[in-house]
Amino acid sequence: MTSGKCKVCGKPLSTDEIGIYKKMINRGADECMCIECLSREISVPVSALRERIEYFRRMGCTLFL
Ligand SMILES: [Zn+2]
Repeated sequence: MTSGKCKVCGKPLSTDEIGIYKKMINRGADECMCIECLSREISVPVSALRERIEYFRRMGCTLFL
């Protein structure tokens, strides 16, 4: 599994943050962004990204298990 730090601000990433980055940007990404930097990058509010994480989790997406 990809792990590590946000490539923008260096914050350690949670599994959820890695998962939503892969869903929104690039499934094969080696480097990911934290949810705050992703929010700025794609102009989607953090609250909306968190709702998406919950949605994907309910759908059984393996990125969020
Ligand atoms: Zn960041």
